[in-house]
Amino acid sequence: MVTHGKNSHDSLADPALLDKIDKLFACNVGEYINLPQLVVVGDQSSGKSSVLEGLTKLAFPRDSGLCTRFATQIIFRRVEGVDRSITATIIPGPNADNPSELQEWKATDLQALSPSSFVEMMSEVHTLMGLSVTKDDTMPTFSENVLRLEICGPDEDHLSVIDVPGIFRNTTPGVTTKEDKDMVRRMVLDYMENPRSIMLTVVPANVDIATQEIIDMAREVDPEGRRTLGVLTKPDLVDKGAENKVIDLVEDKEMRLKLGWIIVRNLGQIELQDLEIDRDAAEERFRLTAPWNTLGRDRFGIKALKSRLQETVTANAREAFPLVRVEIGKRLKDCQDKLQVLGAERETSEQQTRYLLGVMSSFQDITRQALSTNYSSNDQFDIDLNLRLATKIVNRNGEFSNEMDEWGLKYSFAQDGYDDSSRSDAEIDDESESEDEIPRVRQLNTRKTTPIPGLEDVLHGLEEGAVSPSCGGIYSWIENQYRQSRGFEIGTFNFTLLSTIMKQQSAKWPIITHGYINDMITMTHGFILKALNLACPNLRVRHNLMSFLLDRLLDRYKDAINKVNYLLLVERSGTPMTLNHYLNDNLEKCRQKRFTSVIEKKALSDCTHGKVVRFDDMTHQHHMSNEKHTVQDIHDILQSYYKVARKRFVDSICMQAVDYHLVTGPKTPMSLFSPHLVGNFSKEQLEEIAGEEGALKRNRRQLRKEIQDLQKAKKILF
Ligand code: GDP
Ligand code: MG
Repeated sequence: MVTHGKNSHDSLADPALLDKIDKLFACNVGEYINLPQLVVVGDQSSGKSSVLEGLTKLAFPRDSGLCTRFATQIIFRRVEGVDRSITATIIPGPNADNPSELQEWKATDLQALSPSSFVEMMSEVHTLMGLSVTKDDTMPTFSENVLRLEICGPDEDHLSVIDVPGIFRNTTPGVTTKEDKDMVRRMVLDYMENPRSIMLTVVPANVDIATQEIIDMAREVDPEGRRTLGVLTKPDLVDKGAENKVIDLVEDKEMRLKLGWIIVRNLGQIELQDLEIDRDAAEERFRLTAPWNTLGRDRFGIKALKSRLQETVTANAREAFPLVRVEIGKRLKDCQDKLQVLGAERETSEQQTRYLLGVMSSFQDITRQALSTNYSSNDQFDIDLNLRLATKIVNRNGEFSNEMDEWGLKYSFAQDGYDDSSRSDAEIDDESESEDEIPRVRQLNTRKTTPIPGLEDVLHGLEEGAVSPSCGGIYSWIENQYRQSRGFEIGTFNFTLLSTIMKQQSAKWPIITHGYINDMITMTHGFILKALNLACPNLRVRHNLMSFLLDRLLDRYKDAINKVNYLLLVERSGTPMTLNHYLNDNLEKCRQKRFTSVIEKKALSDCTHGKVVRFDDMTHQHHMSNEKHTVQDIHDILQSYYKVARKRFVDSICMQAVDYHLVTGPKTPMSLFSPHLVGNFSKEQLEEIAGEEGALKRNRRQLRKEIQDLQKAKKILF
């Protein structure tokens, strides 16, 4: 058998602690943090109010149904040197319609709290909470608001207890509905689920405890019985002969609870009418009758209950207090972080403008850092390498240039001259392929980025797919072209032939270039989305900004594509032209090389003057036909011109299409996100783009209130 404290005041060593917890409840902290508390729970008419009255000596209205429609927190405080005073206030529930009105309500003129003034105050509270007063109104029967009664006086013991509505199984037509039943169950369960609640579980002794719903609920939330304190009422109504069963229960033989069971004998309905009867005396008389007189003093009576409660409650509070302190600090920090994430308030046009200007300026900062490769300035560049825009662009530029060099040709240029009749073009081609060890199946995918939604329309017109390696047979192809276009020229060729074959030779340029510009636009757009994510954490504003700007962004992407197509047209279909001396240098070199390679074969190396060619051999090497000679010439000119044109083209694409239109020019997509844009928004546009939605406003208001409450709590604690 556990022995409980002999002197209740021993266990009351820390009223200041309990006082602090009560104050925490008063500033709503119970809503956010599990505070240690004592709740009285039980089925309807189990005797909760009677037990409370026994404990508190307050006249709780019994059987009137008045006190049980909302939770009531009753706080007793010992305050020396003042008259006993009673203050009633309301702690609004989380879903109250009129929280400030409830908060402001206060009743102080309740000195005695006589039954009549109690009833009067209760009906006032009912009206205030919007509860039904008559049978016929359509107001709700139960409320989540909490009535708080604070009783201060020199003779009060420190005790704080919450009385919740009784659980009921059967609804009463016109009074309680199925919804009420569920709501009460939910509300009571809420109080019980708090792991720091001590549950004073009231069960009448004259019924089978198995029929009491509250027992199931208590087992559910506290399976080990660590925080359930059982109270058995109505022992005087137990059938003769059934007493032993009750005694077994109290002696922990039936349902083990660490906090144990206590029997309390309250006054019955009829006894109550007799104002002469003293509750405590009646209980004491009853205790002395058999078989109750066999029970230990600590297992019977309201006094035993009170001292065990004070012990339990203090121990519970001591244990929980350090954790509560930590939790309050943590929760406060969480709320402040959450409020921070919501960003600045955006109710007025000025606030909206300020907010958007902030977004634009962060966006521009990130863009500037990304383009100046100032990656160390922001951790995000390490977290997401895709933000490193400048590097990505430079890498892709290099890739583009290499691809154009390696894959841009339709026909590879020949290494040897056309007059080398012993070898066919095909052979030459085969050889060059095997030399470079290029397998025939090789293909190049021109697009490297994964598509981003929203760009489909713009990128749709671009050629896509793969290019295969350039094929051989350049001489026969040129010869064919020449034959199909020649006129009466002698030893020369029609000027337009060069532009025809140039166009064919560069047939793969569009697909490679389109792949490149596709990637550049995708990368730029991807960057914009990520940068905006960082600059504007609010999803809705971000979304609104994006939909407002998307068309303009797409226009800028289109400008880049148009420039690409323009350059393709100029290079491939315009007049072949260059002022670059590099053309002639190339041509000269090419002819020189060809001449040397022919001559070289005739060189004699057994001579004392180094390599020597006989004069006759030099002059007699021209036995090529006119036609072949011309084809050879065309080949060489095309080769020289192609090289100049390809380099010019690659540079122009990189500078004019990409750099100017997408990266650093005056009208890049990134520059759309400017303070200027915000300055031009009308009031309506501001509201539409940056206004706060109702849910956000509510969220912000709630967080503010919570922060305020928690800050008050912190002051109480430290
Ligand atoms: P609540 O609905 O749980 O608050 O129950 P009440 O405290 O209002 O009690 C319901 C009825 O049971 C009242 O008429 C009380 O007088 C009566 N009652 C409560 N406890 C006892 C008890 O120990 N003995 C007797 N005889 N009646 C009791
Ligand atoms: Mg009651």
